Amino acid sequence: MFSTPNSNRKHIGIYGQTNVGKSSLINKIMGQEVSIISPIEGTTTDPVSKAMELIPVGPVLFIDTAGVGDKTELGKLRFDKTYDTLKRIDIAMYVFDATNINYDLYEEMRINFKKFNIPYIIVVNKIDLIDNNEIENLKNKFHDAIFVCAESGEGVDSLKDRLIKILGENEYEIPIVGDILPYNSKVIMVVPIDSEAPKGRIILPQVQCIRDCLDHGIKSYVVRDTELEEALQDIKNVDLVITDSQAFKKVAQIVPSDIELTSFSILFARHKGELRTFVEGVEKISKLTKDSKVLVAECCSHNISHEDIGRFKIPNLLNKKVGFELHYDFTVGHDFPDNIDEYDLVIHCGSCMVNRKTVINRINFCRERNIGITNYGVILAYLTGILDRSINIFRKREQV
Ligand code: SF4
Repeated sequence: MFSTPNSNRKHIGIYGQTNVGKSSLINKIMGQEVSIISPIEGTTTDPVSKAMELIPVGPVLFIDTAGVGDKTELGKLRFDKTYDTLKRIDIAMYVFDATNINYDLYEEMRINFKKFNIPYIIVVNKIDLIDNNEIENLKNKFHDAIFVCAESGEGVDSLKDRLIKILGENEYEIPIVGDILPYNSKVIMVVPIDSEAPKGRIILPQVQCIRDCLDHGIKSYVVRDTELEEALQDIKNVDLVITDSQAFKKVAQIVPSDIELTSFSILFARHKGELRTFVEGVEKISKLTKDSKVLVAECCSHNISHEDIGRFKIPNLLNKKVGFELHYDFTVGHDFPDNIDEYDLVIHCGSCMVNRKTVINRINFCRERNIGITNYGVILAYLTGILDRSINIFRKREQV
């Protein structure tokens, strides 16, 4: 169960004033110690993430955040990190201490939940420390809240049920290929096995593609580029060929024009973001001038080969395309600058380590400011002249 990447897990953020028992509550939900729990206020500093299986929803990621409401300098820094988590969570829990209800802090967070369109559950903890009258009063104020005692576990099952219900209601995600091909279609996946291929395995996007085909009753065949021609003779009526982008040009020469062809990168640009928006983003390239600034946003720092793509390959190709040197800035991780208005184009990484919500929030942030945004897969396809054929299947379905 722990092999599911965090990017594929529903993200559940836990918020509330310092020392309301957020960490204890997560431990009770998970049935194990996760966060640092201490009676000393402000023990949770950076957000702490923990993966678990929430049956029947499946894999989820709890993000335990620092308490809100600390007005010291350190408290403000902690809040910035807490605020950042709002850009990637799918659902929030706001936890009150039943003995010390702070409406102002809740109102502040409620506005933030609305801003990022996050469904949330109000949880009133420590109900063992107040009497029945006080509980009734709070129930009148918070009609929809769940009342719990994290220490004894009272009410925690109701909280889990509510989480499961809300996550179920919001569960629709864009499939990788399952919604573009009918049941019983045939797909050939081209996976070159060269020096770049990891030893003894195939990479995650390819594995996820195979699984998506299985989920949707699509027959998938996996071949190397060197066996593709023969495979196309063996397998009749192939509906789609999906290839690694690096082999696209070679594969395009082999695949007849009446068979749709796309790349894993294009499929994931749609699965993890908005393909139409990313294609509109590359259309802004023709408007770039020598004064233009480009932001390259990478979601993590630990993949050297992706760094090469973002830091060297794409800037070099883009400079060549426009005919002059553009100014590039780079961000890594969950940081996405507030001064985005300075940029003329944002180039986002493939987002394999983050969830779709993170990318959609960034897209919306750029859209509100009329800044073009594209991603690695789409811009590389555009700069290497393979974009048109690789998005043809989506054009026919009016998705681009
Ligand atoms: S695509 Fe983004 S999230 Fe995935 S390894 Fe590269 S930088 Fe990290």
